[in-house]
Amino acid sequence: MKNISILGSTGSIGTQALEVADICGDVCIKGLSANSNVELLEKQIRKYRPEKACIMNEKLYPELKNKVSDTSTKIVSGIEGLCEVACINDTESVLTSVVGNIGLLPTVEAINAGKNILLANKETLVTAGSIIMPMAKEKNIKILPVDSEHSAIFQCIQGAGDNKISKILLTASGGPFFGMKKEELKTKRASDALKHPNWTMGAKITIDSSTLMNKGLEVIEACWLFDVSYEKIEVYVHRQSIVHSMVEFEDNSVIAQLGIPDMKLPIVYAINYPKRKTQVSEKLNLFEVGTLTFEKADTETFECLSLAYRAIREGGTMPAVMNAANEIAVEKFLLGEIGFLDIPEIIKQTMNAHTLVSDISISDIQNADTWAREYGKTL
Ligand code: MG
Repeated sequence: MKNISILGSTGSIGTQALEVADICGDVCIKGLSANSNVELLEKQIRKYRPEKACIMNEKLYPELKNKVSDTSTKIVSGIEGLCEVACINDTESVLTSVVGNIGLLPTVEAINAGKNILLANKETLVTAGSIIMPMAKEKNIKILPVDSEHSAIFQCIQGAGDNKISKILLTASGGPFFGMKKEELKTKRASDALKHPNWTMGAKITIDSSTLMNKGLEVIEACWLFDVSYEKIEVYVHRQSIVHSMVEFEDNSVIAQLGIPDMKLPIVYAINYPKRKTQVSEKLNLFEVGTLTFEKADTETFECLSLAYRAIREGGTMPAVMNAANEIAVEKFLLGEIGFLDIPEIIKQTMNAHTLVSDISISDIQNADTWAREYGKTL
């Protein structure tokens, strides 16, 4: 039996991870957490009987506690509760599939408690890669990527030994607005951006895909995960989402990982690593796919990708500021308060106004995050 906890169990990745656990049959769910979906969390508690479950929204704590009072699951709440779920005794791994910067603290606590991290929360490495990676090394724990691209890169380097990566070819679907220019994008609303061609994901990440910020966050994440400079990471728009990413080695050989676009594939790989045993998705039929195409990303139109390269180049607190400003801008866009092209504008202005701290601690990151949110809201 593998004992795991899932932070963000009612979200897109969390629910798919539970499906994977059902199929695997040898996974025991020790902890669950949700932001505010009491109804689904209650169902999950009844089905999986975890030791602890956390509801992030503290106002909903009495309601959830009351609903599951006939079970033995301990109900906790807020960020402290989330950290408690991340550190449950005798769990080997914690899947961090919460959305946003909230994932940082519980990840730090889980690493300190010696848990492997099944990483589905991008913000952790984007904002604190310089702290998290050495910490993981020191504690001798594994960080196994759940993002499809990073899982692909990770799979491509299995068996590579000391051979250096000369380039990462990071694939991107291009999102729903691929090929459009700024004039057309001006009038795009959240409902247009939420129609992703290949992947089914949560709202925040779907908007991030449409602006290419998702790819920007992934570039930064890949720098830390694979210890590669941003200059060696190139984005390839690949509309079919079949090649999940590629790695070029020093002999110019390129290794790719392919599969149908289904998040259950990287999830099952991370849960069972290094074993491959359970089939959780359909087989890839390349005759049906027929053509695989690769194009350059249009960073003049989709400025968020350039902003991400700028953030990792400047380093320190800048990626955290970019990330926080993006979260605020996406929130505003989802509420219909701003237009699509205002998203990169808010991020850029916030980054321009930030006083960079280079040698960072967790509290520097949190201060930068708080500052950027407040500043972003005024724009
Ligand atoms: Mg991805």
